[in-house]
Amino acid sequence: MVELRKPIPVAEAVRRVMDNVQPIGTENVPLEDTYGRILAEPIIAKHDVPPFDRSPYDGFAIRAEDSTGASGEERVAFSVIGEIGAGHVGEKALGANEAYRIMTGAQIPLQADTVVMLEQTVEQGNGFTIRKAFAPGENISFQGEDAKEGETLIEAGTLIHPGTIALLATFGYAEVKVGKRPVVGILSTGTELLSVSDELVPGKIRNSNGPMVEAQLKQMGIECRSYGAMEDDLDACTAIVEQALAETDVLLTTGGVSVGDYDYLPAIYERLGAKVLFNKVMMRPGSVTTVAVLEGKLLFGLSGNPSACFTGFELFARPAILGMMGGTAPYMPRMKAKLGEDFTKPNPFTRFIRAVWELAPEGLITVPAGFNKSNAVSSIARGNCLIVLPSGTRGYEKGMEVDILLIGAEQGVRDWVL
Ligand code: AMP
Ligand code: MG
Repeated sequence: MVELRKPIPVAEAVRRVMDNVQPIGTENVPLEDTYGRILAEPIIAKHDVPPFDRSPYDGFAIRAEDSTGASGEERVAFSVIGEIGAGHVGEKALGANEAYRIMTGAQIPLQADTVVMLEQTVEQGNGFTIRKAFAPGENISFQGEDAKEGETLIEAGTLIHPGTIALLATFGYAEVKVGKRPVVGILSTGTELLSVSDELVPGKIRNSNGPMVEAQLKQMGIECRSYGAMEDDLDACTAIVEQALAETDVLLTTGGVSVGDYDYLPAIYERLGAKVLFNKVMMRPGSVTTVAVLEGKLLFGLSGNPSACFTGFELFARPAILGMMGGTAPYMPRMKAKLGEDFTKPNPFTRFIRAVWELAPEGLITVPAGFNKSNAVSSIARGNCLIVLPSGTRGYEKGMEVDILLIGAEQGVRDWVL
């Protein structure tokens, strides 16, 4: 008898997954290895940035008061008493109508409170003249204007990107406390599966989900543990799932979650005593996506259909894995775009369409990336976003505004809002 499954809304499925996510701990890593990791401590300014008043230009450091009354007719003259290159400091305090030649990034010398840009001066003798008065503080990059000592600049739970690394380096974080990366296992199931280097034979196809999901993990900086492809054999698959669970923090399987005669994942979950969080989601593709939990470990049963597998990973596995790493913005970023094509068929379930977004004169436009059934592989290759069409009786017409979820975005967002 075919088992009856109760479909749940996508947002509810995401919530059930995220309710079962546990951060797996932290570790200290050298700064150069932190790209793509999740901060496990806030970045607090250890000192002011900049740490001293400095020059934003190449020019001359002067006392503003000495420039009072300068004009085209009454140019004011300064004598240069020395030069300060970046990384050096001026030895002397400035006196009346004295100036230091100063380079970008150099510390402002004592008594100086203004920098005159090189272009604003005319050379004269061992000095220069200027034709305008300067206010104190003009052209100074002030100590602490970027960050004040003690200020919390970035919260724990944030993804570390190149800008974050610049900030960490600024404060001398040679080691950074980050969330541990989970060990993620991948197992592809299906008697029809060949490996990438095999010749096609009747009835068989190459395993594209395994390499795709590996790459989806790699995008998150995670090297997976691959359990290869298995034939649909209940005992053998149960044994390998059991082994994988012992060796990994989270297991992704592809295929075998439908209700066909050889779809063994439901039976495997039952044999192992895993608690199924859901086995039917109100979405297309990927309605059969199943997520179970055993001894605190999540098992993602992704559909074998490539587009469904891809979408299931992005919607459920990615945020869960980021959550395990302590990430607080694990969801795909969302934008609004205008549909570039009609989608008149009503959807009983929310539809996620592999698509391309681009900026046209009339604003952001999104068009489906070609053949778009759940078994499509070509449109995953072409797409850079997923169009979200909520379920309902009405169709969607060209020009209507829709939500799109961005694929491959480095930084996610805090809330799942669809
Ligand atoms: P299943 O989810 O096992 O019912 O598979 C659904 C469809 O996806 C079938 O047409 C399978 O042949 C295909 N499929 C299953 N696994 C893979 C895979 N790893 N790579 C490409 N296609 C797959
Ligand atoms: Mg199968």
